[in-house]
Amino acid sequence: MSETYEVRDTVILGSGCSGLTAAIYAARANLKPLVLEGHEPGGQLSITTLVENFPGWPDGVQGPELIENMKKQATRFGAELRMAHLTSADLTRSPFELRIGKDIILARTLIIASGASARWLGLPSEKALVGFGVSSCATCDGFFASGKEIAVIGGGDSAMEEALFLTRFATKVTLINRSENFRASRIMLERAIAHPQIEFLHNTVVEEVVGVEEKEVRGLKLLNRKTGERSELPVSFMFLGIGHDPNATMFEGQIDLDSDGYVKTEHNVFVTRQGVQLHGVYACGDVQDRRYRQAITAAGTGCMAALEVEKYLEEVGR
Ligand code: NAP
Repeated sequence: MSETYEVRDTVILGSGCSGLTAAIYAARANLKPLVLEGHEPGGQLSITTLVENFPGWPDGVQGPELIENMKKQATRFGAELRMAHLTSADLTRSPFELRIGKDIILARTLIIASGASARWLGLPSEKALVGFGVSSCATCDGFFASGKEIAVIGGGDSAMEEALFLTRFATKVTLINRSENFRASRIMLERAIAHPQIEFLHNTVVEEVVGVEEKEVRGLKLLNRKTGERSELPVSFMFLGIGHDPNATMFEGQIDLDSDGYVKTEHNVFVTRQGVQLHGVYACGDVQDRRYRQAITAAGTGCMAALEVEKYLEEVGR
């Protein structure tokens, strides 16, 4: 099997908001970054519709358009975007060895911006209606639920937080938990229970999202797992609050991850191995952020990571 080798000053894993911001900064520093676009090119913004909270867009901007603009901005300064994803990495060598199928890239620095993927139920009807009433981001899409009856799926803190947030817009929120018990912290759960606009369904799973033909959510077909009873809930929106999975499993054992698999960082973007800073490796965006998970915070840490790369390469000599 033939292998091709190339050497790069910096490789950025991921082409969401954080990766592309890092690419803009690294490209403007003349580092000619290589961006590996990954499994979900454009990241979570590329599956969002209107983004109204990204500063600088008074009338909002479509998520895919925002990403497209960032790509243009990065390539204009010399970033190279490649449709590829990492097969494996060896961060014990210097330069770092990144394998993409049969190709090997030797990277003097690495920015991990591989994001976190929202968990979905996995129903075909759900997939067909993402962006048309199915959403995994209450902060992004809550406003569109104004005056509507909606459902939130999940029983953890994310679901409670989303349900509480969405009461600002929706007239009624039905929280659908597949289990008898909740994973949510007591305080969050109590707040949700006390809220007059939130109703709970326990032991209940969604079997189908209704409205595929109409291209808008019209309701949910439900199954009570305890009683076996089936029902239909008329709602105009379904928000998923069943958690996110950070895309960092490929680095397991090579860098420090927390118990849920998020990259542990110090001073926002420094990556560690066994508690010691791993020079030349930085992480930004949702792969290291379980708290804020916003486009603007991802962009912010992307910028920081690129500035650290620049500083590091200056120190060790290019
Ligand atoms: P989580 O605690 O893992 O809870 C996930 C929930 O989604 C559980 O109720 C789980 O049900 C349900 N679920 C998972 N897969 C499902 C599926 N396929 N269909 C239906 N339901 C499904 O995740 P999280 O709520 O995102 O929280 C993750 C971490 O972040 C936690 O440590 C949490 O405390 C923290 N967090 C904190 C805050 C806050 O403090 N403001 C906000 C958000 C998150 P089962 O119980 O049946 O598995």
